[in-house]
Amino acid sequence: MAQADIALIGLAVMGQNLIMNMNDHGFVVCAYNRTVSKVHDFLKNEAKGSKVIGAESLEDMVSKLKKPRRIVLLVKAGQAVDDFIDKLVPLLESGDIIIDGGNSEYRDTTRRCQSMKAKGLLFVGSGVSGGEEGARYGPSLMPGGHEEAWPHIKDIFQSIAAKVGTGEPCCDWVGDEGAGHFVKMVHNGIEYGDMQLICEAYHLMKDVLGMDHDEMAQAFDSWNKTELDSFLIEITANILKFRDSDNTHLLPKIRDSAGQKGTGKWTAISALEYGTPVTLIGEAVFARCLSSLKDERVEASRSLSGPQGVKFSGDKAAFLEDIRKALYASKIISYAQGFMLLRQAAKEFCWSLNYGAIALMWRGGCIIRSVFLGEIKEAFDRDAELQNLLLDTFFSNAVQDCQDSWRRTVSTGVQHGIPMPCFTTALSFYDGYRHEKLPANLLQAQRDYFGAHTYELLSNPGKYIHTNWTGHG
Ligand code: NAP
Repeated sequence: MAQADIALIGLAVMGQNLIMNMNDHGFVVCAYNRTVSKVHDFLKNEAKGSKVIGAESLEDMVSKLKKPRRIVLLVKAGQAVDDFIDKLVPLLESGDIIIDGGNSEYRDTTRRCQSMKAKGLLFVGSGVSGGEEGARYGPSLMPGGHEEAWPHIKDIFQSIAAKVGTGEPCCDWVGDEGAGHFVKMVHNGIEYGDMQLICEAYHLMKDVLGMDHDEMAQAFDSWNKTELDSFLIEITANILKFRDSDNTHLLPKIRDSAGQKGTGKWTAISALEYGTPVTLIGEAVFARCLSSLKDERVEASRSLSGPQGVKFSGDKAAFLEDIRKALYASKIISYAQGFMLLRQAAKEFCWSLNYGAIALMWRGGCIIRSVFLGEIKEAFDRDAELQNLLLDTFFSNAVQDCQDSWRRTVSTGVQHGIPMPCFTTALSFYDGYRHEKLPANLLQAQRDYFGAHTYELLSNPGKYIHTNWTGHG
């Protein structure tokens, strides 16, 4: 008998938690997994006493669903998603909905949308952020694909999503095709940037100001009461405070070699592909790559020297505030760049993206959740067509207020030999973006000189000319 509101396939940690979240909100969920024994285990343990029902096969699962059928896939991204889709298609009817909540590549989602449309089925690719905890108690959800599916899933999605302010859900319709997964990808890239910026602030506190762990924890705790109020600043303070079983700090014992799963890299690749200068996320990805060359760095540290005899002699409290402002300004640049990439993708794929709604989706539930995203939402509320966050008065004033501190932080860090790829690239981007004239006139001349690539004159834009620079025929 059809009794379930929705089915979920994939009983690893994300799937199980999302099912229990839907169950808590009154929806009857049918659970299924490739390895069916996991369905039995789940019903006997985590889902015991809930309204969750299980299925022994895909046929069994489909027969238990109300129409139009709603089926969420939370399986390993890639081939597993295509394999399940292939098995589901013959069992479904026109108007049924398949939702992929995994970390799929947005182009795969676009491809799946197109192939499902031809079969009369509706396909949704939804970003799900917030990890295990988010899935269980309120994730950020970024659904995109066939918009006709949205009225059928909106209630479930918005009920289980994280809430902010006066109960606004961190979930709204993102756009066509792979738009939901694209937005999730950019979210992950921004997460890389936010994390690296905090690491650079930590490095400066530790090696320029010589602060100990408790002092640094206190600084991050107090920063969390400022514009930087965010989940990542909060957990950084907790990490700095954390003591091992021997009562010494755990953080300095952790090997300084960062891992990555690839979504930051995808964002940087998209930025290159669409010609959008998302420099900060790119540097954040490369910073992880450089950190992972641990053995090589250990070797290099024995022969390559940095600045000699430089010791900080200024006002420590004032410089700490400079670092805070440098972090804030750099973060503004990172989000401005992320939204530039979204804008460019929207143009590329004819997606109609609601940037304010995207900021709200990231405002809670996910790793980059912060008060700051509320400001971004307001900037897009003021002007939905805002070309760049830096052109919004709130953000241009904020950067102006931070600017002197930002420059002092970068120059002091450089003098002390501290690597700050994200602080520095953010400042270079700002300086590039605000310059009416860049030295690209020389670049164009060089291109024309060696390759006859032509150039435009300022006085006659649109007309491309070539000069014989050497006088040789
Ligand atoms: P996962 O380890 O990525 O995937 C495990 C699930 O995929 C199991 O149900 C497994 O079934 C199934 N699976 C794997 N290969 C399969 C195949 N070839 N055919 C059919 N099923 C296959 O699980 P997860 O960590 O819960 O993540 C699920 C999805 O959410 C992934 O796309 C992940 O990237 C995304 N995500 C994860 C997080 C997180 O914090 N973990 C956050 C956001 C998004 P069996 O039990 O039969 O092996």
